[in-house]
Amino acid sequence: MTERLIDRKMSAKATGPPSLPRQAWNLASALAGFVADGCRTVTAEEYRRRLEVCDACGERRGDRCLKCGCRLSLKARGRAFRCPLGKWEEL
Ligand code: SF4
Repeated sequence: MTERLIDRKMSAKATGPPSLPRQAWNLASALAGFVADGCRTVTAEEYRRRLEVCDACGERRGDRCLKCGCRLSLKARGRAFRCPLGKWEEL
């Protein structure tokens, strides 16, 4: 609950990626999920579809997602990784 409130306040002001501590937390959480999922990756087609969604998203800046701070070329590969806005289809 508190975490959501902080995120909401931060996103209202945000014009760039999250703070470094937040990025570190996001990365650690995502990696824990990736390892728990057996380090499985998506198919080439799923990877392409994810990046197409990112292409049309206002949070994308180059290879970076401004919402979570992750590198999209890596994040889109892990089956357990999720779009922070829920825009990627569930696998
Ligand atoms: S991961 Fe989600 S929020 Fe980030 S750029 Fe892609 S579609 Fe947008």
